[in-house]
Amino acid sequence: MLSKKQIVTWLTLCHEVLEENKTWLTQLDTAIGDADHGNNMHRGFKKVHAQLSELADKDIGAIFKAVAMTLISTVGGASGPLYGTFFLQAGNKMAGKQELSETDVAAMMRAGLDGVKMRGKAQPGDKTMVDVLSPVTEALEQNINDGMPVIEALAKAVEVAEQGVKDTIPLVAKKGRASYLGERSKGHQDPGATSSKLIVECLYKAAR
Ligand code: ADP
Ligand code: MG
Ligand code: MG
Repeated sequence: MLSKKQIVTWLTLCHEVLEENKTWLTQLDTAIGDADHGNNMHRGFKKVHAQLSELADKDIGAIFKAVAMTLISTVGGASGPLYGTFFLQAGNKMAGKQELSETDVAAMMRAGLDGVKMRGKAQPGDKTMVDVLSPVTEALEQNINDGMPVIEALAKAVEVAEQGVKDTIPLVAKKGRASYLGERSKGHQDPGATSSKLIVECLYKAAR
């Protein structure tokens, strides 16, 4: 079970961790994009963080929907609407909830991932955030279905996310700005996959 307090902690940690990793994410986006991913993500989660105290008495679904609106309006680029859609669909799925059961955690990730895929049309292997969100969702669904406690399932999800990030390195980008580089996108880690890994890691830390 994850309490609303833990969900708020998740979003707070996202702000901290994206601030710490802002320069690195932007460096990754310098190699295969337009050198703004760290700044984009930091700007968005800084605004989310500033809003969290006002959102504390809302349900988890409403909190996610407010996060979505903020990310869509402040992050910009490709990742703003994509992460915005993640939280919008996660928010719709978690509407009215004051806490998340183990199966809710998997269902939240599934709803978010499906939103990202619907919005961006990327599939696994296209060298995007989907290369982390998709295996993470599958691992969570499987492990939680097998009766694994949520903390352990999230610890495994972090390992899967780390592998997902590494696996983007040899890929040729098929979506987003990196796809303009074609074969030259090979040999670089995808920035959005990297920020997704950080966000998953923050969820694990919040659950502990
Ligand atoms: P922009 O490319 O507009 O500057 P960002 O730099 O903030 O936006 O985000 C780039 C990241 O967005 C990429 O590294 C990739 O992971 C992700 N991305 C781009 N296009 C898509 C897409 N169609 N579907 C999923 N993720 C995508
Ligand atoms: Mg960029
Ligand atoms: Mg940009």
